[in-house]
Amino acid sequence: MTDFSRLGVAAIRDGVANGEFKAVEVAEALNTRVAGAKALNAFIVETPEMAVAAAQAVDADRAAGKPLGKMAGVPIGMKDLFCTEGVQTTAASHMLEGFVPTYESTVSANLWKAGAGMLGKLNLDQFAMGSSNETSYFGNVISPWRRNDGGNAALAPGGSSGGSSSAIAARLCPAATGTDTGGSIRQPAAFVGISGIKPTYGRCSRWGVVAFASSLDQAGPMARDVRDCAIMLEAMAGFDPKDSTSLDLPVPAWEAALNSDLKGKRIGIPREYRLDGIDEDIAKMWDNGIAWLKDAGAEIVDISLPHTKYALPAYYIIAPAEASSNLARYDGVRFGLRDLPEGAGLQDMYAATRAAGFGEEVRRRIMIGTYVLSAGFYDAYYTQAQKVRALIARDFENAWASCDLILAPTAPSAAFGLGEKNADPLSMYLNDVFAVPASLAGLPAMSVPGGLDKQGLPLGLQIIGKALDEQAVLNAGLAIEQRSGFTAEAGEWW
Ligand code: GLN
Repeated sequence: MTDFSRLGVAAIRDGVANGEFKAVEVAEALNTRVAGAKALNAFIVETPEMAVAAAQAVDADRAAGKPLGKMAGVPIGMKDLFCTEGVQTTAASHMLEGFVPTYESTVSANLWKAGAGMLGKLNLDQFAMGSSNETSYFGNVISPWRRNDGGNAALAPGGSSGGSSSAIAARLCPAATGTDTGGSIRQPAAFVGISGIKPTYGRCSRWGVVAFASSLDQAGPMARDVRDCAIMLEAMAGFDPKDSTSLDLPVPAWEAALNSDLKGKRIGIPREYRLDGIDEDIAKMWDNGIAWLKDAGAEIVDISLPHTKYALPAYYIIAPAEASSNLARYDGVRFGLRDLPEGAGLQDMYAATRAAGFGEEVRRRIMIGTYVLSAGFYDAYYTQAQKVRALIARDFENAWASCDLILAPTAPSAAFGLGEKNADPLSMYLNDVFAVPASLAGLPAMSVPGGLDKQGLPLGLQIIGKALDEQAVLNAGLAIEQRSGFTAEAGEWW
């Protein structure tokens, strides 16, 4: 009997289309796996009946000879930042506990239209703020991976899309949605040995996605290989008049154009990313990545992105600034939680609701954001950060004169243990150091598995491309995937 948990997006789609198995069989098998993996805490809400209903519709369409969508019969996990009609959407915050949207996000609607079904809503860092999934109101997500030291230390699945990464690595679902504001698709993908791509800003509609930092937020797919990411991105992307930053461009046929022959491509290696004291295993993996791309026909060039060191500080001003503005809407009146102490007035209700509804990290960001936007400090912090952002974007523009793609590590370390970094926000923020420059510049960037470190944990290689050139990013990802021989899996302890 087929073990459906081993099939990816393409294999499920093709098997359903060819009549090898029914979509309902796949949905039922994965529903069972989801139900059996509570220890990972990857899902906030499970929706087995929705997965089955979508699968039944696909099986009926096939029986009737109707054309099937790009994701027909593929059950996926939905990050709980996407509004889903009739299904609680929380952004992993107490503030939105019990909030049931009356509308569907454009990205999730596109996926359902393409024939995908929903296994459930995936846990994440609260309002997508975090790098370890430890800021969720609904508890930590645990990575299925463990160190090879014989200990049982619970490891972070990365963040903020930690439910997505953990569920895919544990083979609860072949793919899941992620969102990436400053690395939240790429870093969790790297931590659990899967792939994920953040497309060019504007490729996927933000409509119906709970906003964090609107000038950076972008949705994208996470899956176990590059082809599956290409398929799912095609289903997610597309112009949406309801999002003013949506790009009015056709969606390329990324899957059909996958090609790992990189002859004629120049790959830039940014010297500023070779930080002093860089982890030895990360440096080795990066060198391997360079060798694999060379083997695929690419030419390797040394490049400079001189403003790299300012990217992290600029991000941690701009993202909180936008967050403080976006999160002003949670006032106890319109959405979710209301905390109305006896005899309290309107201001007291706002204060009580926001104090009770937001977690510590969210409150920290709102305070930082409010501070950097305040009249006396606006120019010193916010305006300055925007200038730095422009310089970072220009660094990439200049780099494209000598290269077509950039190769770097996704994160400076392998997965860390739960609780290891959350007492010190700065050390947590530092984990985003390689991810945020591409976010600030709005460029497509992908993480693919690059190997294992000494502790037996996955490491990710990041490929950054020119705006709108997701194809080149995916192709380089495929070239790495074909050479890295990465087949490691987490042992099934849960
Ligand atoms: N880890 C980063 C942060 O905490 C990025 C989060 C994201 O991309 N949503 O802001």
